Amino acid sequence: MCGILGIVGVNEKEDVYNELICGLTTLQHRGQDSAGLVTFDRTFHLEKKLGVASEVFKQNDLDSCRGAWGLGHTRYATQGETRLMDAQPFTLNHPYGIAMVHNGNITNFEQLRENLAQDHRYLIETSNDLEFLLYTFGLELEKTGMFRVTPESVFQAVEGVQRKVQGAYATIALIAGQGMVAFTDPCGIRPLLLGRKDTETGPAYAFASETKCFDYLGYTPIHQLGAGEAIFIDANKKIHTHSGVSKRQAFCVFEYIYLSQADTSFHGRLVASDREKLGHVIAKRFQERGFDPDIVIDVPSSGYFFAQGLAEALGIPYKKGLIKNNQAKRSFISPTQALRKKIVHQKHNPLKTVIQGKKVAVVDDSIVRGTTSKHICDLIRRAGAEAVYFVSGAPAIKHPCIYGVDMPDPGEMVAAIRTEEEVAEFMGADAVVYPSLEDMRSLYQGIGICDACFSGEYPSNVSEETLEAIRQEKVLSCR
Ligand code: AMP
Repeated sequence: MCGILGIVGVNEKEDVYNELICGLTTLQHRGQDSAGLVTFDRTFHLEKKLGVASEVFKQNDLDSCRGAWGLGHTRYATQGETRLMDAQPFTLNHPYGIAMVHNGNITNFEQLRENLAQDHRYLIETSNDLEFLLYTFGLELEKTGMFRVTPESVFQAVEGVQRKVQGAYATIALIAGQGMVAFTDPCGIRPLLLGRKDTETGPAYAFASETKCFDYLGYTPIHQLGAGEAIFIDANKKIHTHSGVSKRQAFCVFEYIYLSQADTSFHGRLVASDREKLGHVIAKRFQERGFDPDIVIDVPSSGYFFAQGLAEALGIPYKKGLIKNNQAKRSFISPTQALRKKIVHQKHNPLKTVIQGKKVAVVDDSIVRGTTSKHICDLIRRAGAEAVYFVSGAPAIKHPCIYGVDMPDPGEMVAAIRTEEEVAEFMGADAVVYPSLEDMRSLYQGIGICDACFSGEYPSNVSEETLEAIRQEKVLSCR
């Protein structure tokens, strides 16, 4: 998972790098491994560092980042190690000069690696699959044979990419002095939106992964790119749209559940409100099973809105029962289970006065390996709870994500190899409560979602061999 941003500024006199950095800080939750930006005036100016946007960019480095057009990126390394050479943006000096950022994961990397090497003598140097997108886009653009790009030639190149590159990719490319193009894979799995800001000296445009970025930068979201859609902003800031190669839309539902922040909207729906609605649905599962908790608490921070909705629908109080230690590291991406457990133990502290003697429904956004939930159940019991119902805002996760969300092998997923009763027993909970897959699907009727991590139905039709190759690549990259 990553955060991407592209800005077409108001006019050539106003450098865009400050706005890029500010925008990246609003997308920081999407990746903290590296941050990068590129601007263009007569040439590209590229700055990328390991770490977070607010800390790594120094004014000295930025003084040369001139230009009103630019791209930014925050990286969460789902594939590959955290090395500076893998940080985005990447640039290519032929044809025209192209800078690019993306969010997602490419699934036919073996085939692309072979084709690029054999047919075009390219060497893939990094473990970031942006290389495949960038080289393929460059080759397709070169094929159009235009002296200057036209909207038609750009869209032709995008379609060439969409036919060759499989998987999930929300992409923004800055073509030196000629324009900026944003496009998605044929299923539109990862988010990409266009925003506009009107100023006294003219409009500015931005493409970003989340609307919250627009809110902070003063842009109004005007469009979310659909499956396979491409938008080109030419050098005169005229907007051209194209439907591209598209299949049924399959927008990642985990964006609503966990990845995006609560103050973002997709398809006109606020993430916070959808989490609350799932909380309402989960209340029905409680009533069916005859559970009667006294209070609802959340696992901070992403369980909050599910918990609010659940408490509201059950007509019982929502309480703050766990305090998060904000200095603790992220447990999920640690390489060993021993380390994950250690970090999870440093993350939360229960409020005994809230929990003691109560039947507690405790809500997290999701359960993956069960490391967090097992520890939380133990904490709540030791704080004197009479009963512990562990609630997941998401349905049971049973399948790996191959589209850019870090998920372990199914063998490590607690729900993939256990019944619901066994999951509760593993966690030490009186019961575990999930919404069903159908509950979630009915909430998103009409949007077209990817729910492969719950259902195993991959919208881009991957073969068993491809799934295995992706699994191997991930195992290798974790070493
Ligand atoms: P686990 O402890 O393995 O069951 O993972 C569940 C916890 O990790 C929950 O608190 C989620 O908020 C968080 N989580 C879920 N998916 C991810 C992900 N892809 N990357 C990082 N954290 C995640």
